[in-house]
Amino acid sequence: MLAQARIWREQGLTIGLVPTMGWFHEGHLSLMRDALNRANRVVVSLFVNPIQFGPSEDLAAYPRDLERDRKLAAAEGVHVLYAPEAAAMYPQGFQTSIRVADLSCGLCGPSRPGHFDGVCTVVMKLFQQTRPHFSIFGEKDFQQLAVIRRMSRDLDLDIEIIGHPIVREADGLAMSSRNIYLKGQERQQALSLVRTIDYARQRVAEAAQPLVVRDLLAELGSRLVHEPGCRVDYVAIIDETTLRPAETVNPSCRLLLAVKINDRVRLIDNAPLGGWNETAI
Ligand code: AMP
Repeated sequence: MLAQARIWREQGLTIGLVPTMGWFHEGHLSLMRDALNRANRVVVSLFVNPIQFGPSEDLAAYPRDLERDRKLAAAEGVHVLYAPEAAAMYPQGFQTSIRVADLSCGLCGPSRPGHFDGVCTVVMKLFQQTRPHFSIFGEKDFQQLAVIRRMSRDLDLDIEIIGHPIVREADGLAMSSRNIYLKGQERQQALSLVRTIDYARQRVAEAAQPLVVRDLLAELGSRLVHEPGCRVDYVAIIDETTLRPAETVNPSCRLLLAVKINDRVRLIDNAPLGGWNETAI
């Protein structure tokens, strides 16, 4: 991979990287198209990164089908689907880790200890291996995007980090490889996330003055307890850059939530909330 990337660089070609864990859906394909519109060469990495999964998480069960993904990436015109083996990524003796301290702490941090360290470490390795000029990440994983932006800035990586809007199913459910775990009525229950987002955005749009975040969160929480099969991991309204909690809803605020459906499938979603005096959000 590195030898190929060096040749492209020598030829003056721009390289875009889209890191993924595979089991492609429209969200992944949309990131690939975005990259293809910006670069001469696009690398899509496919690596189910063991070090970002906790011991009780779904590493073994994570959906995998390399042949299916290969066809989908090829149909988009992706130049390289880079799917390294775990043993090649982490050979014996591997012991380095990258940690973005503060941004990894809150939100998904407490329920997924070590997760963002694993993400940063593998993304840094993928950057070294593919030598991209830019890399695209979905806003679906909003905390991840903020963490990677911070890492890139802090370590002077000279790689542009691009965020890509969330791609949704027709009924609003954010696309995710993990949606395949939803069985029967769980698919309907999963709409509780986007329902909460729609409600919050409407409350903000209709408010005559800035909403107090504490009050809005209490309202969202009391609605979510009535959603069948839903256990809230967190609901937060934070500043988009610092990920710190906001006090009143302002234009740089975003609503982030994580919910477990039937104590089994953990889903995340998020959306900007806009300011109280904005129109048409
Ligand atoms: P994953 O394979 O789930 O690790 O995701 C790979 C990349 O695709 C990450 O940057 C995700 O944020 C992004 N992604 C996943 N689902 C979506 C979606 N529904 N919309 C936009 N980006 C997404």
